[in-house]
Amino acid sequence: MDKNHKEYLTVDEALALVLSRVQVLPAEKVNLLDSLGRVLADDIVAIDDLPPFANSSMDGYAVLATDLIGATPTTPVQLRVVADIAAGRPSRVILLPGTAARIMTGAPLPVGADAVVPVEDTDEPWRDADRPLPEKIGIRRAVGKGDYIRYPGEDIRQGDHVLAAGHVIRPQEVGVLASLGFATVLVIRRPRVGILSTGDELLDVAEPLSPGMIRNSNGYAQTAQVSTLGGEPLFLGIARDDEADVRRKLQIALDAGVDLFISSAGVSVGAYDVVKAVLEQEGDVTFWRVRMRPGKPLAFGAYRGIPYLGLPGNPVSAMVSFERFARAAILKMAGHTRLERPSLAVTVLDDISSDGRESYIRAVVRRDGNGYVATITGSQGSHIMTSLVKANALLIVPEGVIKVAAGEELKALMIDWPESVF
Ligand code: AMP
Ligand code: MG
Repeated sequence: MDKNHKEYLTVDEALALVLSRVQVLPAEKVNLLDSLGRVLADDIVAIDDLPPFANSSMDGYAVLATDLIGATPTTPVQLRVVADIAAGRPSRVILLPGTAARIMTGAPLPVGADAVVPVEDTDEPWRDADRPLPEKIGIRRAVGKGDYIRYPGEDIRQGDHVLAAGHVIRPQEVGVLASLGFATVLVIRRPRVGILSTGDELLDVAEPLSPGMIRNSNGYAQTAQVSTLGGEPLFLGIARDDEADVRRKLQIALDAGVDLFISSAGVSVGAYDVVKAVLEQEGDVTFWRVRMRPGKPLAFGAYRGIPYLGLPGNPVSAMVSFERFARAAILKMAGHTRLERPSLAVTVLDDISSDGRESYIRAVVRRDGNGYVATITGSQGSHIMTSLVKANALLIVPEGVIKVAAGEELKALMIDWPESVF
């Protein structure tokens, strides 16, 4: 390794510094349906039992279990039917020995009943609204006390701490919160992220190509990356390699109240690397070389007090650096504690070479027998965007390693879980 590398940061050092300078955002109250994917800011304590009352888990007959001792298909027990209890209506029925109440799934159990017999185990041939309540019902099996009854509090008891602050809300949490009556919940605010693309060579996506120009892909890819993480992207478009233009665009984001800036390009050693200049004038800025491939140059600091992450310009470098640094920063701000992608140990099927920096190799991981294997997705140039389109993982070649032979094992950061992995 060349001696200059001593001045460089490792990926882990750079990531630790980024994370030490972004903070979890404050909480806000949102409607339950807007809470999906967000992080709870408060413990959730049940205000009711769930289920809230004893009810039937089947369409059938509410009975006293002792009435049915010895009931079989050939020796059914006849009970007098005294009530018809539908879901959604309170029941004032009291069941006495020798009687039964027709009951629907979810309907409240009458006082005195201690079991339900499913309709399939009775001689009631069918049910519909037109069919009158039978006077008697033959029951063809015995039941145990409590059979087909859902008791109050079986799922959640009033006063239970159901979810802790920090819990990520998925559809099942939305369901639990709804059943407990939480129309609104306190969650961590979504990080607002300003996304700026710098470069004189950039055109917007709708513009026709002209000599020497390329379309701005980073701004779009990064906006999508922020959205995928549950952040609120603010697309700032293109700034020319001109300090005043960069400042003007950053001001738009400041006025909109962003929590983080992400820009691409303009952070290496080119003569027109204006992001670097603008940030230097604003004071709090650190320029790093990270011992990482792709994506060596990385600027981190603050612009007027707001954290600023300046990513490299090459599209693959920008995406991989976002993956490694911006992703964790945004997730931390949103209150998440699991900041890293899941990883797998995989056997590589191709030879891989590196220059000794920690390298991120675009690859396809798939299941093979009891383990996982990985093949690389063609050319690994930092401008080959299709290598990311094909990939479901980034293989990490550790620092100091310059050759990995087919058959060796590497850690794969999984950016997707395609079906073939399972
Ligand atoms: P730079 O960091 O300015 O030296 O840019 C490195 C490479 O990334 C150059 O080839 C740029 O043209 C390219 N590049 C910079 N910004 C973008 C962008 N927003 N979209 C696509 N390519 C870009
Ligand atoms: Mg440039």
